[in-house]
Amino acid sequence: MADASLPTVRTVHDLRAVVAGWKRAGQTVAMVPTMGALHEGHLSLVTLARSRADRVVASIFVNPTQFGPNEDLAAYPRDMERDLRLLDSLGVNLVWTPTPEIMYPGGYQTWVQVEALAKPLEGAQRPGHFRGVATVVAKLFNGVQPAKAYFGQKDAQQVAVIRQMTRDLNFPIEIVVCPTVREPDGLAMSSRNAYLGPEQRQAATVLYRALSAAREAYESGERDAEKLRALMRATIAAEPLAKMQYVSCADYDTLEELDQVTGKALLSMAVFVGKTRLIDNFVLG
Ligand code: AMP
Repeated sequence: MADASLPTVRTVHDLRAVVAGWKRAGQTVAMVPTMGALHEGHLSLVTLARSRADRVVASIFVNPTQFGPNEDLAAYPRDMERDLRLLDSLGVNLVWTPTPEIMYPGGYQTWVQVEALAKPLEGAQRPGHFRGVATVVAKLFNGVQPAKAYFGQKDAQQVAVIRQMTRDLNFPIEIVVCPTVREPDGLAMSSRNAYLGPEQRQAATVLYRALSAAREAYESGERDAEKLRALMRATIAAEPLAKMQYVSCADYDTLEELDQVTGKALLSMAVFVGKTRLIDNFVLG
């Protein structure tokens, strides 16, 4: 297969040379950060960015600092050729593919740590994860200096952490959040779905089923957050191939667990199907 014609750069120096030319010409720049192994979820972000900016930069970087020592960094799916073809077909103008050595050269020692928002949920289960995420996104933002950056609601806490960091560090960047793209049976698209065998793939709909059960109860008037969490737990417990890690019904803004749902809330969960850890969420209100 021939290489995609789409230009790629590795170093910050080369990236800045291209982006500076666009900015001198008065063109608006948007960016879409990804870890590659692209699916329709990523492509929805790219499509929206493409429709709203003169130039779109996508980054592909499997960021080692957001993976824990027992997580799937080495096994994380990678398919650069396919990714570049897809991005090219959607009209992306430049792909930034830095290496770990470029992002974290020997002697690297600066980290971005968002505090309260990064502690519960994913932060509690994956110590250091959001320190890695906030640091790499700050570096991606500094490299491209886009007017807008596009993220998925699929990673709800990530969005909250990045919004907070953007505000706190005065990045002049608008964070745009796109809805979760799902398979026809409700499973949220994820690069990690590729790990699932056929039976596991069936079982993986349990996240959507559990979230739907809680949302139906909410829509029928249930406001007791513990009852909503219990419904999600029961749905997951009934799926033999699934093992719950956490379920949550939290305040949308603070991510603190609720007793009563009074305003906007986030239902979220992490579930193991075999060795594959899946997350999903719904927003209420
Ligand atoms: P990742 O490559 O997993 O780091 O994801 C890159 C971006 O795509 C992040 O902003 C994710 O939230 C977003 N994303 C991942 N899966 C989906 C999905 N199913 N729907 C919408 N956005 C997604």
